[in-house]
Amino acid sequence: MTAPLAKRFERCPLCAAPVEQGEPYKVATCTAHPLYNPALPATLRWQRCGECGHIFTESYWSDAGERVLFASALPWQTPDTTQSERLRNLWAPTVTAVAERLCATRGRENVFGTIGDKRPRWLDVGFGNGALVMAADEFGFDATGIDVRSEPVERMQALGYAGICARFDKVELDGSVDVLSMADALEHMPDPHAALEKSRALLYGEGLLYISCPNSETSTWRLWEAAGTNPYWGELEHYHNFSRSSLLALLDRHGFGVVHYGVSARYYSCMEITARKRC
Ligand SMILES: [Zn+2]
Repeated sequence: MTAPLAKRFERCPLCAAPVEQGEPYKVATCTAHPLYNPALPATLRWQRCGECGHIFTESYWSDAGERVLFASALPWQTPDTTQSERLRNLWAPTVTAVAERLCATRGRENVFGTIGDKRPRWLDVGFGNGALVMAADEFGFDATGIDVRSEPVERMQALGYAGICARFDKVELDGSVDVLSMADALEHMPDPHAALEKSRALLYGEGLLYISCPNSETSTWRLWEAAGTNPYWGELEHYHNFSRSSLLALLDRHGFGVVHYGVSARYYSCMEITARKRC
């Protein structure tokens, strides 16, 4: 017997209310997704929590399902020379903004003026093309990235960057970090509470958490819904549709105070939030 590729959510991943059996909130075809493999189901089914309103998929990929899905990577999920300068320029304002906010608790010279072991540490979870790790490294951070796909990790290591191939919930890391980023990664994780708890444990002092992900409360999202063209319903790797308000509530619950909200230009309808760990 082959292992099942997906496991059902028994409870709402945000409020833990038991999942009610009934008609799905949305059913979307995923066969046109560039990572689609015929071993996977042809549709994604979404549900809405009757208790908190969170919208999430009926199931998440099992280890066997992840092996199918992570066997290949999209062009923007791996380091590549053709896009490096564009991505360097795309990420520089984000790293600048996060570094500036870190100065409030660490001091400017400790953020921008250190070398060697004294540099502030930045951990990027789900680094994909590696551009954020590379930009953080350029700004002086002691930067490490982790990713579930082996090919981008091997490429990053070959380029001299610190890369770890692991799932965030399973990886064991030494020491603490000053900045932890999850750029378009939290919506890929079945258990957002566990991810934020682990982030909080890894952050030293009043460290910063940077999260970007699609926001279901934007004008773009509403226009997509009105036109029936929302591409995220068929996104094979997403389990959650967060909104600014649901993400802010989640961060507050895990002891983070939001210090910045902005629009992320990397994907459509995306937001970026920087939050400071409350001590
Ligand atoms: Zn709920």
